[in-house]
This record gives sequence, structure tokens and C-alpha cells, in this order.
Amino acid sequence: MRLRNISGSREIIGESEFAVREPEKQKGNWQNVFCNSQPIHIEIGMGKGRFIMDMAKAHPDINYIGIEKYSSVLLRAIQKMGQQEALPNVRFVRMDAETITEVFAEEEVERIFLNFSDPWPKDRHAKRRLPSREFLARYDKILTKEGQLEFKTDNKDLFLFALDELEDAGWRAEKVTRDLHRDEEMMQGNIMTEYEDKFSSLGNPIYKYIIVR
Ligand code: SAM
Repeated sequence: MRLRNISGSREIIGESEFAVREPEKQKGNWQNVFCNSQPIHIEIGMGKGRFIMDMAKAHPDINYIGIEKYSSVLLRAIQKMGQQEALPNVRFVRMDAETITEVFAEEEVERIFLNFSDPWPKDRHAKRRLPSREFLARYDKILTKEGQLEFKTDNKDLFLFALDELEDAGWRAEKVTRDLHRDEEMMQGNIMTEYEDKFSSLGNPIYKYIIVR
């Protein structure tokens, strides 16, 4: 998702109490940002933040960090946050997830969510796909020993690619569904993302895997 550039978005993000500036400085100390010792869960490529905010409402005992590459998109999440009751357990970071290991220390993150990641259909761009082996190697460093990775998409090719990448990286999916919304067990506690809402209402099946390490 890339929205029209909105002038001043970087400045608004810079001043927002919900956005963390210079996130590398929090490496190893993210719980201090929330002033508690709750587990850290992150969504990479959070878009406008619907999922992470709804997760934070449903699980006040977890700290959520939403990561988004584009200021114009992150701005929407910040605006949404400002229009509702403040959520003390949510922060946003504007960054490219390629440098995620510079921002989180080893075993600092308990769960990673990838929702409707950009497919990057050209082979030469495979490394940019968030469930690629290159990204899995980064996630491997920051996840706790019992950490989890959850991936949802409506893109069949991306899902098949993601399953192959898992196997090649020596990871194993604990749960897999090729039609999440008809899978009673995996739908328990499911929180819809913006894209999930859009594509499932068009009748597209939603694919999901969960990795438990
Ligand atoms: N997760 C949301 C949802 O399910 O509604 C948004 C999905 S949107 C298709 C993918 C988002 O991931 C975009 O907002 C894009 O800017 C962001 N993104 C893609 N690559 C990224 C990266 N390397 N680091 C951070 N964000 C990224």
C-alpha cells in the first residue's frame, strides 16, 4: 500500500506520542517504552493500523508495535489513534523491516504478524517479500525461543512461496489453512485486517499459517 504523498506527514509522525522516533535506540529496551514488562508483539507492514489497534483493545496485557514503511500510510494510523480512546499498549514505527535486527534485540519479540504482505510478483524481487527466507533469517534473530510467526494473505502464489521458504529455512508450520474463514479452529480470536475485510468480502479465500518455534 502506498498512498499519495501527504505533505507534512513526517512532521506529524515526528510529533506524535504514538510514534517512536529513532527506534534503534530502544533496541533491547522496548518494554521501557511501555513502562511495563508485558510481551512484545509486532505487525510488519501494518498499513493503516486497523488490525494492531483491534488486537491491542482485545489484549491489553500485550504490547503491540506496528511497523510501516511509508509515512503517508502511517499517518492514517496515527490519525485513527487520535480519534479513539488512547491505547496505552500500542506504538508505531516508520521503518523498512529490512533493518529490523537493528531495532529489536535477540529474543525481544514474542510474536510477529505478517498480514497481506505485498506480493512482489517478479522473481527478481523475491527477497523483498516479507515471508521470504531473507526475512525469516531476520525474524529468527529477534523472536523468543517459543516465539510465533503468523502470516495471512489472499494471494495463493505468495502463500505457496511462503510455505516453500519456511521449509527451506528449516521452519515448520504448526497450523495451515487455505480457507481461514471456514476453519472454525483457526478463526477463534481472529481479528480482521483492512485487506482481509476487503478481499474476503469479495469471496476470496484467506490463507494462513502459524509457526510455533
Ligand atoms: N497489513 C495491512 C492489512 O492487512 O490490511 C496492510 C497490508 S498492505 C498490502 C502491506 C503494507 O506493508 C503496506 O502498507 C506496505 O507499505 C507495508 N510494507 C511493505 N514492505 C514493507 C517493509 N519492508 N517494511 C515495512 N512495511 C512494509
